[in-house]
Parts: sequence; structure tokens; C-alpha cells
Amino acid sequence: MTSSSSSSSVQVAVVGGGPVGMLLAAELAHFGVRVTVIEQNTETLDVPKAGTLHARTAQVLRRRGYLTAPRTAPELLDREATQPFHFAGLPGLTITGPAVEGDPIVGRAQSDLERQFEKTARQRGAVVLRGRKVTALGSGEEEVTLTLDDGSDLRAAWVIGADGARSLVREQAGFTSEEHLPRAQAVLGVVELEDPYSAPPGWNLTERGWTVINPSPWGPSRVAAFDFDGPHPDRRTALTLAELQATVSRIAGRDIPMFHATFLDRFSDYARLVHSYRRGRVLLAGDSAHVHFPVGGQGLNLGLQDAVNLSWKLALHLRGRAGEGLLDSYTAERRPPAARTIANTQAQLALMQPGRGHDPLRDLFIGLLQNPAVSRQLGDMISDQDVTLPRGPHQSRWTGTFLPNLPLTVGGRTTGVVELLRPGRLRLLVLEPGAANDLRKAVAPWPVDVTVADCASQLAVGACLVRPDGYLAWADDGGPAGLEAALEALLGRPAATTEKEPV
Ligand SMILES: Cc1cc2nc3c(=O)[nH]c(=O)nc-3n(C[C@H](O)[C@H](O)[C@H](O)COP(=O)(O)OP(=O)(O)OC[C@H]3O[C@@H](n4cnc5c(N)ncnc54)[C@H](O)[C@@H]3O)c2cc1C
Repeated sequence: MTSSSSSSSVQVAVVGGGPVGMLLAAELAHFGVRVTVIEQNTETLDVPKAGTLHARTAQVLRRRGYLTAPRTAPELLDREATQPFHFAGLPGLTITGPAVEGDPIVGRAQSDLERQFEKTARQRGAVVLRGRKVTALGSGEEEVTLTLDDGSDLRAAWVIGADGARSLVREQAGFTSEEHLPRAQAVLGVVELEDPYSAPPGWNLTERGWTVINPSPWGPSRVAAFDFDGPHPDRRTALTLAELQATVSRIAGRDIPMFHATFLDRFSDYARLVHSYRRGRVLLAGDSAHVHFPVGGQGLNLGLQDAVNLSWKLALHLRGRAGEGLLDSYTAERRPPAARTIANTQAQLALMQPGRGHDPLRDLFIGLLQNPAVSRQLGDMISDQDVTLPRGPHQSRWTGTFLPNLPLTVGGRTTGVVELLRPGRLRLLVLEPGAANDLRKAVAPWPVDVTVADCASQLAVGACLVRPDGYLAWADDGGPAGLEAALEALLGRPAATTEKEPV
């Protein structure tokens, strides 16, 4: 245990200090919440899992200051940045994003992210209890009690289960889920290959399944195989080096000798999605709420966006400044992208079925991916760039969309949306200075920052209200009355004071 809290009562306890739990802690601490993370591992494990931040996750993390702000300038507005990716292991998919957002794919190991988020969380005052396991959870009207493996209790006003796929919080708090039973299994190892030059590199389909090998002649290689013969009878049986070698060799159709495994694991296409991300005073985020086959590298991306979506809402709620439905908008906004991701991983697995009978379907898909519109649609889906938030019937067509990193001039200084949002405050962006006075008056009863800016873009609105995660809560083509309704939904009825607070 590297640090401990003498208090047995906290505002928010986050169970699980993986990447999602640590980002929650960093965000909540930023918003002034007293947060404690309980993580059973004594240090971050360098496991070969996620290594890809997709476009929307990177865009959100840039707005929250966890990734470098991209350059924005008027000449970039009409340009796009593209990077090659794959769909179901098939080549030809391109992920495309606005050039003002920087690279649409960012390569970052999940362990690096976890370390960065933990460091930030601690710097901001979050307490991280490492080497402590939560063994039981008791939910009450006023608080939730967590029992730790040293026998102590920790009481929290709110608990967030970020404790991964086998979440104890989910089970003990009584969350219900929809489940999709597994039909395939995968084995994964980090090993030394006896002959790295002869191992088939990259994604390879054979008549028996797929091998995915990143051979390294200088050190450990990441070796995986997807086996469509059905799930392992007991998912918890530890994978051995011998089984990994036998499976990879069988699927490859030739012997691929390997030795000295430093990591071995098995997983499947079992999928689960909880029906609601909240039950009373308990919330879920990341893999505890949703799991699926990791094709397309989307799981961590979902979880990190959960963390950002939830944190500012919970902070407002704790301060008594949240609109009535704000906290429950977390499920409404984050569950649909998770459901869609589960569906797209299932579609990818269907396309990955080995056997000649499926080759014509794959060939058809490879052809379709050559069509830029198809590639764009699938790329936007994998990278969550087509995510818009649910909006009410009378709201502007911009409400719920993501505001790009437009170049802005504020008080003679050149900046961009990403930089403007970094403090994490609700911000009214006024692009028609003539309307500024009226709008200032309209938002005065709420803790909202107002920025009057010149914008070199074709944004068809004169003013918009931007949330800390970059999505628009209001835009002026819904009329000024819509602004007050949007503020009430976010922040409740105006408080007696107009004190400016962090969100
Ligand atoms: C092979 C593989 C490849 C993947 N590749 C990608 C990819 O490229 N891109 C992508 O986006 N996603 C990928 N994923 C998915 C990604 O790894 C997960 O979505 C991610 O780890 C979820 O983060 P999390 O913080 O929600 O959960 P976890 O990373 O599982 O963290 C949960 C934490 O909770 C702790 N914990 C659990 N129970 C307790 C308890 N009772 N008390 C205290 N602590 C507890 C655990 O020790 C752990 O640290 C991949 C997954 C796999 C298996």
C-alpha cells in the first residue's frame, strides 16, 4: 500500500485503479471531489492490452488536457488527417478526422495511460490505496460501505465500480446485464519466438482461424490466435506456453516454436452490457459496464469516454448544482455507444469466420472498403466520431454534436476550442459579438463562463454552450429560450448565488 486515508468516509470511492479508475480519480479531483481509489495491484502491470486511442477518445482527452493540444489554424479547416486501420482483420479501412484535431489514431499503451492518470490524480489530491482489495459492498440510502481485505470499512457517498470485466461492484450492487455467450476463443502471449523471421507477421487468416503475430527478432513478440472451434470449457483455466504454441501452430498450419513466456492469457467473444450504469449510489464505468471481443481496439476507448462523461456530472451533483436528470444522462449517453460497439465487434467476428464459404463475403467487404464513403462510415463508427448525444425534440440540430477544434481569436489572442475547454468549465462561446450582452444576462444566474471569440469557420451558429467533454448542450438556432432550458437541464434552477465554480 503506497498511501492511505485515515478517514473512513469519503465523497467518492472508485473501486479499481485500472486506466478507467485512475482517469475517474484525476477528473473528479480536478473538479474538487474528495476521491479515493482502491486498487488491488501494488503497481501498474505492463500487460499487452490496449495500445490504440481512437479519434473521439483522443479528441476528448486533448480537451481535458491529458494529451497535447493539436495545432489549429484556418488553413487546416478544410483538411483531414487519415491513418490506415483494419476492419475484421481486412485491409483497406481508413480512419479520417479533421486536421484541426491532430492524428486520428494515437498509439499509447494502456499501462502508460494508467500511470499518467494515477500521477495526475495524486497531484490533484486523490487518495490511491494500492495493494487493497474490496471484498464486499453494502448499499444504503445515504451511503455505500466497502469492506477491504484488511477488514476495514470505507464509507462513501458514492461508489464507482471501475473494477473490470469481473466486477465485484457490479455483482454485489445487483446490476443486471444483457449477455452474449461466447462462440470463439483467443489465446494471447508475450514470448520469445525461436525463428521470428519465419513467423507469419500481422493478421493472417487460415482455414482454421487467425494468427496475429508481431514478431520481434530482438526480444519478446506478441503472439495471438483466434480459434473458432468454440469457447474453452473453462475460461478461467490458465493458459500455458504449450497450449499457446499448440494453438498458434495448429491455426498457422506449421510449427511455430516459442519459449520464455512473460505473459499468457485467454479471452473470448463473450459480451456483456449492463442495463443501467447507475443503481442508487453506485455507478459503473469501463469494462465493469461493458465487455466484448477486443477486435478493433475499442474497449478502453469506451471506458475512458465513460470516465470523462461521468466525472463532471457527478461533481456537479455532489455540489448540489446538477439538473434533475443530469446524472442519469450518463447511462443515456454512454450505453448506446457501448451497445453499438458490441454489435460491431460481433459483425467483425462474423466476417472473420474461417473457411472458404466465407471468402466471397470477405472479398465483397474488401471491395466495399475501397469506397471512400463506406470506409468513412466504418471508420467513424470504430473511432466513435459519429457519436452524437440524445437530444430533446425542440433542441437545435447542433445539440449533442461534438464541437471541432476550431481556430478562435479571443481578445486578440489566437487559440482554439481544445485550449478553451481545458479548465473543464461549462462555456458559452459567443461568435456574434452583438449578441454577447443579452447572452451574458441570460446565463448570469448560472456558473457558466462566457467567451466572445472570432472564428474563422463556417460554423452556422452565432453562439453555443459547450460541455467540458466537448459536446454542445445548446446552440442558438434553437432560440435563446432553449438556452435557459439547456442550463436548467445541466445545472438545475438558478441558485441564489452566482458564485463561479469549477464547472
Ligand atoms: C488482448 C486485449 C487487447 C485489447 N486491446 C485493446 C485496444 O487496442 N484498444 C482498446 O480500447 N481496448 C483494448 N482492450 C480492452 C481494454 O484492455 C479494456 O477495455 C481496459 O482494460 C478496461 O479498463 P478498466 O479500467 O475498465 O478495467 P481494467 O483494466 O480491467 O482495470 C480494473 C482494475 O480493477 C482492479 N480490481 C478488480 N477488482 C478489484 C477489487 N475487488 N478491489 C480492488 N481492485 C480491483 C484490477 O486490479 C484492475 O487494475 C483489449 C483487451 C484485451 C484483453
